[in-house]
Amino acid sequence: MRGTLNKYFGYNNFLPLQEDVIKDVLKGQDVLVLMPTGGGKSLCYQLPALILNGITIVVSPLIALMKDQVDALVLNGVPAALINSSLDFSQIDTIKAQLQKGEFKILYVAPERLMMPVFLQFLKGLKVSLFAVDEAHCISEWGHDFRPEYRQLKSLKENFPNIPIIALTATATSKVQSDIASELNIPDSKRYKASFLRKNLQIKIKSKANVYEQLLGYLEEHRKDSGIIYCQSRKQVDSLTFDLSASGFRALPYHAGLTAKERSSNQERFIKDDVEIIVATIAFGMGIDKPNVRFVVHYDLPKNVEGYYQEIGRAGRDSLKSDCLLFFNYGDKAKIEHFIRQKEDLREREIANLKLKEMVNYCINNNCRHKVLLQYFGEDFTETNCGACDICLEPRETFDATIEAQKVISCVHRAKERFGMNHIIDILIGSKSQKIIGRNHDKLSTYGIGRDHSKSKWQLIVRELIRAGYLDLEGDEYPVLRLNTKSKLVLAGKEEVTIVKPKIELGKTKTQRQVKIDSKDIDYELFEILRALRKTLADKEGLPPYIIFPDTTLNEMAVYYPGSLEGLKSISGVGEAKLQRYGELFLKSITEYCDNKGIETKASIIKHQFSAKRTIRPSEANSGTIRETLAFYRQGLTLAEMAAKKSVVVGTIVSHLEKIILSGEEIDINRFVSLKDQKIIEKAMAEVGPGMLRPIKDTLGGKFSYEQIRLVRVALGQKQN
Ligand code: ADP
Ligand code: ZN
Repeated sequence: MRGTLNKYFGYNNFLPLQEDVIKDVLKGQDVLVLMPTGGGKSLCYQLPALILNGITIVVSPLIALMKDQVDALVLNGVPAALINSSLDFSQIDTIKAQLQKGEFKILYVAPERLMMPVFLQFLKGLKVSLFAVDEAHCISEWGHDFRPEYRQLKSLKENFPNIPIIALTATATSKVQSDIASELNIPDSKRYKASFLRKNLQIKIKSKANVYEQLLGYLEEHRKDSGIIYCQSRKQVDSLTFDLSASGFRALPYHAGLTAKERSSNQERFIKDDVEIIVATIAFGMGIDKPNVRFVVHYDLPKNVEGYYQEIGRAGRDSLKSDCLLFFNYGDKAKIEHFIRQKEDLREREIANLKLKEMVNYCINNNCRHKVLLQYFGEDFTETNCGACDICLEPRETFDATIEAQKVISCVHRAKERFGMNHIIDILIGSKSQKIIGRNHDKLSTYGIGRDHSKSKWQLIVRELIRAGYLDLEGDEYPVLRLNTKSKLVLAGKEEVTIVKPKIELGKTKTQRQVKIDSKDIDYELFEILRALRKTLADKEGLPPYIIFPDTTLNEMAVYYPGSLEGLKSISGVGEAKLQRYGELFLKSITEYCDNKGIETKASIIKHQFSAKRTIRPSEANSGTIRETLAFYRQGLTLAEMAAKKSVVVGTIVSHLEKIILSGEEIDINRFVSLKDQKIIEKAMAEVGPGMLRPIKDTLGGKFSYEQIRLVRVALGQKQN
């Protein structure tokens, strides 16, 4: 199994549960696999397909996804094909003929095609080793994506009683699970459920205030990242796309109002990294497998937690760190309630309202986001700090808000509990708006008693008071603030109020930099070069870049600097077929870069806890590791000692020192290169120019290392500045 895993997929280890699932499948057992998005479901049938004798039939609901999967397999050297309505008769005939000759190991088909009597008959003439039903929740009315055609799969087991079925889904509710088992007629199937915790997703919920500014602040810091921004309406999608484009971002819209052609072209351009951002309604997402979606933003409030989980699930399928950012306010809640009121069916309305309430609770809750999500899906989470959500990462400061609470509550009381939050705040801050003056609210004793805080700060305080139960917000269409028993206690001075301190963030969100990450050793300059190479190749072959190599693979290349095919082979994600096809090209890029930078490449690679921990993201500034180098420098360590301590090459240490020097920090390079040597190197640089390292090195007759030359060069440059 491991041999096949490495040969075709280039991986050295299995992800959780994969190995157990595959062993069962190889034994001929029916299995039901529940894994979150990015959990590695495909491998659970693709690997057995390669090992088993015969062909594996994969049922998949979406044509676009089929093509992606087949392309990816073929590139890995796995003989795979698809039959669907995108092919014409003669193409289908050709594939059928190849199937009869046993030329494929994997065939993708849509359920309605599979269950056509002629097709079943055709399959009976082949040696089928396994059926894999992907996105199996489509079979259940209780899932979020019911597809009636999946119901036809019921008779699959009757037709092929001896052939094992593996069903896979990322929807975990128990109702859906039992539906799958009964509808597919596999009551004795073994169930595997992976944890639905996705720690690589950094979940944050922000108060929605100046939302466009807030969004821009976020995007500025993630210029090169791919991401999806979900909005509630088509109109919102169009206007946001327009604004973002005007602000210089490459963004495209996606919603049901576009033609099918526009939609698929926009999606395609996103998948191929031609644009970074897709602005979409929830219509977008099911058909994409793009593993390097680095952020999912909810510009508006989602309608329910299931949908939200699905949508954020589209981030970080490659297990690299990704952001999920939601902007919440009560206005959005009211908008959704308005939609819900349009529903005819009373029961439907009830369910929708209930689900909305859960969603709102999730947003205003002060509990770990991951914990709440897992509980929602019936999973326990006992850790006290997930390290991957705003609640756990930015523990909130509290403050004594008794005075503030009294001001708000008495204002609500004076205004006879008939007004909404904004109106009450306007009274507090002494607004001169017509709404206030016209109602004589400027005559209230509470008028202007809250001038010490800004409007947005009051909004946060009032929301927090509602959340903590000191005030009620009642009514759907025009919610008004109301007093409750707790408010009365506060007003009477009988209860002190401690709430979370409001944090106003306008513009830049400080999301990333505070977060600790696992690997700091990625050479981002090299990563960008390899990324560009990948894009060029992808465009030439008409493939999405990630099918050539995922980001994780490029990351590793930019950590280990492999200098031979052998070295490249040990990078995770480089299997035999890709090594043959792309090895030389990537190697050339890496060695050229290293030559230029004076970094030693490596023929053989010993990995340091890297591929196991797949939580590194490429665009993260590696400032932590640079600071560490600076600390070592200050302790008086030599270059070699620093390199050994950090298990990196000396070149990496030097590149850190370069950055430190460029940032204006005083570094005494005399410690590493004697004054006399510095003079010699400077002279050589004056002769051939400081740009390229190799000529300098050659002029010096190879007497000095690249590292020495680099240090002298950067120090000189800094002196001259
Ligand atoms: P799912 O279908 O469950 O969302 P995928 O099958 O698309 O997940 O796999 C998610 C990512 O994990 C893909 O980029 C895949 O190449 C990668 N992957 C799968 N198995 C392994 C493994 N054993 N080691 C490393 N990466 C893996
Ligand atoms: Zn948490």
